[in-house]
Amino acid sequence: MAEIFSVSTSQAKQCIDITERVREIVRKSGVKSGLCQVMVLHATAAIAINENDDPNIGVDLLTALDRAIPDHAGWLHDRIDNNAQAHIKAAILGPSELIPIADGDLLLGTWQGLMLIELDGPRSTRRVAVSLIS
Ligand code: ZN
Repeated sequence: MAEIFSVSTSQAKQCIDITERVREIVRKSGVKSGLCQVMVLHATAAIAINENDDPNIGVDLLTALDRAIPDHAGWLHDRIDNNAQAHIKAAILGPSELIPIADGDLLLGTWQGLMLIELDGPRSTRRVAVSLIS
């Protein structure tokens, strides 16, 4: 089974905590033990697991990515729609994460949260698919 929800983003580059939205889907599903795959359905956004308590971690991640992969650094794809940096970062980070389900809930460490990484925003709709395997 797969459920899709939408997230709107407000900045060009942004980390958004989606942990609770995914947790709610898992809890309502009735799946007690299994796997939860979370996948963003776009080529210029990514999913990552990291600390969500200090929002500066997300800012630092975006800064580090910018240093490694600067905007408009002669990328060939910029000739098409000017967002090559977003495609490259999305490919490196990856579109999905797979999380164990235990006792009907996501099995995450204390400091782990699920983050949607916007790399070419703002966008009114970023679709996220949650697939559960029991
Ligand atoms: Zn593009």
